[in-house]
Amino acid sequence: MKESCIPLPPIDYPDGVTTIDVAYVRSGFAASHLIVENGYAAFIDTGTSLSVPLLLKVLAEKGISREKVTHVMPTHVHLDHAGGAGALMQEFPNAFLVAHPRGGRHMIDPAKLIAGTVAVYGEEKTQKLYGTIVPVPEKRVLIAEDESRIDFHGRSLLFLDAPGHARHHYCVIDESTNSVFSGDNFGISYREFDNENGAFIFPTTTPVQFDPEAMRKTLDRLLSYNPQAVYLTHFGPVTNIEKLGSDLRNCLDQFTEMALDLKQEGKAQQDSLASGVQQILRDRLKKHNCQLPESLQDELLAFDYQLNAQGIKVWLDRLD
Ligand SMILES: [Zn+2]
Repeated sequence: MKESCIPLPPIDYPDGVTTIDVAYVRSGFAASHLIVENGYAAFIDTGTSLSVPLLLKVLAEKGISREKVTHVMPTHVHLDHAGGAGALMQEFPNAFLVAHPRGGRHMIDPAKLIAGTVAVYGEEKTQKLYGTIVPVPEKRVLIAEDESRIDFHGRSLLFLDAPGHARHHYCVIDESTNSVFSGDNFGISYREFDNENGAFIFPTTTPVQFDPEAMRKTLDRLLSYNPQAVYLTHFGPVTNIEKLGSDLRNCLDQFTEMALDLKQEGKAQQDSLASGVQQILRDRLKKHNCQLPESLQDELLAFDYQLNAQGIKVWLDRLD
């Protein structure tokens, strides 16, 4: 994992949404989405504390004052989505943080999030990757129950409880534009793989709460709104949603079948699961007619091979 990278320039879309690269892991890997409506602004997912200056810069370039930011919406409390939320809230005196019912307490007291991260990366690396994780005052936190709505200055945002990737995950349906902000529940699609066949997409099965059955249900629920676009945190908007939804379902089936087969053979260790994920994605990229050399495919996906395998392993172990 690289500790710094040069972010891609922000991209504006006609529905008042801007995709901002938060410069996490590599460029084009993780995004925050800025929504502007009637002069007011909101961020969906924030990157880490180290991403905050990038988000403030885009806001300033658009001539929007910090007082006009009214909502910060981390889809779930994983640090690439919510790590910067506390630091960002300090910059926006009028903003509320909109949290999932299971996520709010971790934003108010991030001690557990920090301890979990330090346990994986150690003190020094945690600081380098995530900066200082800042708590959010309780009175500034709104809890978004399933099917609750926020009137974002005339733009209706509907919140759905969205387990599958994590139990503290919501997705946001932007009812005014018929689009979805999916966090990590409509997979990962890196723009480097776009070609004449469209986008290449695959599910994110990150630890520790990956649940394939819940992910399928969440997918069905998101698709039931027939969105014209889905904004992914990894990375940016995709269209042709019905086709991508079926790609995600197929790929999820392949991941779980591969894992259950390995388990039956007594070979469901991290290394073999990661190779299994790699093989599935390589085969799918071939079918996608991807012309990038395999070494570059691996470079772009190496982080996900490992992380997806870890999440699948935790799920398998829970089945016992
Ligand atoms: Zn993520």
